This record gives sequence, structure tokens and C-alpha cells, in this order.
Amino acid sequence: MSDALRFPPTDLDMSKPTIARAYDALLGGKDNFAPDRELAAAVEELNPGMTDLAIENRGFLSRGVQYVANELGIDQFLDLGSGLPTVENTHQVAQRNSPGNRVVYVDIDPMVLAHARALMVENETTTVITADLRDVEKVLGDPGTRRLLTTEQPVCLMLVSLLHCIPDEDDPFDLVRSYLEPFPSGSALVYSHLCADDVEHGRLFTERVHASGAPWGRVRDPRECAAAVADLELVSPSVDGAEPARLVDCDTWRKPGTDPVDIPGEDKRIWE
Ligand code: SAM
Repeated sequence: MSDALRFPPTDLDMSKPTIARAYDALLGGKDNFAPDRELAAAVEELNPGMTDLAIENRGFLSRGVQYVANELGIDQFLDLGSGLPTVENTHQVAQRNSPGNRVVYVDIDPMVLAHARALMVENETTTVITADLRDVEKVLGDPGTRRLLTTEQPVCLMLVSLLHCIPDEDDPFDLVRSYLEPFPSGSALVYSHLCADDVEHGRLFTERVHASGAPWGRVRDPRECAAAVADLELVSPSVDGAEPARLVDCDTWRKPGTDPVDIPGEDKRIWE
């Protein structure tokens, strides 16, 4: 049996949680171990509603990909920090109406590649790369990226529930610019970020994740999260396009039957 098909892959450190596996635990998945479940339970206790937020974030990801593929007609996707395969993965959504749409998944967690291979996610239109997204040249120069994506045409960059994993010293928002820079006009970004306007609560949350040993960044202030995309043209958050373009709570972005809710929201301490 190849390593890619072995569960769990033999080179994994199961003594500490990883963000990919803890997030899988929050989503109710089975690709996680006891320390991952402990971290998931701890953040749910600290911020009741984290589980719902993770589920809502997946809904946002799916609506974002549908919008980009169907409304903007973009046919190539670079999904950074893609996470373990779950339901409604980017390639399934992007390729539903257009099977030729191409998707490159990138994640630092080797288990993502192992599970994606086992689920036959990799095919001629979809690939999975194990890499640290902070190495922009490596990601953009990877043979898989070069095979499937071209900078001659608009690309959709996906940074969904990801940049809070990147510490300040690695300048996460400069990374956004580095990735978008080679992409032509008409490209798109699907973006969500954990944020808290209650600084103390955000700090406690961040401390708890760091204490688990999982590499992470921090929960940021909504204004910092907005600054990351200040140079970009936002789209209307309502399905009918009538609402003014702005950042909103991810679980209300273009969700049928739901009015967009501005961040910070009223009933939650940490938003995406
Ligand atoms: N984007 C997915 C979603 O929204 O459902 C998964 C989000 S999950 C909270 C964050 C993912 O980013 C994890 O799978 C983690 O392994 C990955 N990640 C964190 N730091 C990374 C890095 N430096 N390079 C690549 N992936 C990273």
C-alpha cells in the first residue's frame, strides 16, 4: 500500500493538533485525532458557536466559488490553505456546471494530500500540492500550478479562513498582494478571516490556539481584516446585487433569503 493510501499516513505527528485536523473535527469530520478534537472543543467552549461558524464558512466558500465560476466566468482556482476534503469541495462546486474548470489546492498539512489522493480528488483538472503558502515562488512555480493555471487569463485566488493562521511577522496581507500581483485584471479573491472587535476576547482565543502547539497566527481586528482587501473592488453581498458592496459576516454573504450583516455582528464575539 502506498503512503498516500495509508490511514493515517505514517509520517504524521499525532501528539499535537494541526489546524487542518482541528477544523475537520469542528466540521464533524473523521480525519482527526484526540489532540485535534481537544482543540476543537476548547475553541467551541471559549467562543460558543465556533462549530456553526466553521459550517457557515464552508457555505460561504461554496457560494463564493459558485459566484466566481457562474457569474464571473472564471475557470481557474488557486485554493490556498484548502483544508482536508469535506463536502462541497472547491473542485466539486467549480466543476459542477463546467467540468473543465481547473483547481489547484495548496495546504501545508500532508494529511490533506493523502486524503485527497485516496478520494481520487486529483485528476487532469485538479491537483493538490503540499506547500507552505508563505513560499509564493514555490507555490506559483510548482509543476502542478504551472500545468493547470495560466496567468494569461483571470484566476480566482481563495484565502478562506486562512490568514489568521499566518503570524504578523510573515506579513499575511503582503502575501495577498504577492499572489494577486501576477494575475491579470478580472481576477477574483474569495476571502474570509477570523476577526473580533473585542480585543481581549480575540487575544484569549489566540493564546488558547498557540498553547495547543498548532502553528497559528492570530484573530485580528475587523479593520485589519478589511485593510487586507482595501485596494480591491468589492462585490455586493446580496443575491440580487442591490446592497452596496462591502465586507459582511460570511454566513450572510449572498445567502438566499438572508440580509447581509455587517461586521462586527451583534450576537457573536468572533466572526468570519
Ligand atoms: N480553506 C478551508 C476552508 O475555509 O474550509 C480550510 C480552512 S482551515 C481553518 C485553514 C487551513 O490552512 C488548514 O488546512 C491549514 O493546514 C492551512 N494552512 C495553515 N497555514 C498554512 C500555510 N502556511 N501554508 C499552507 N496552508 C496552511
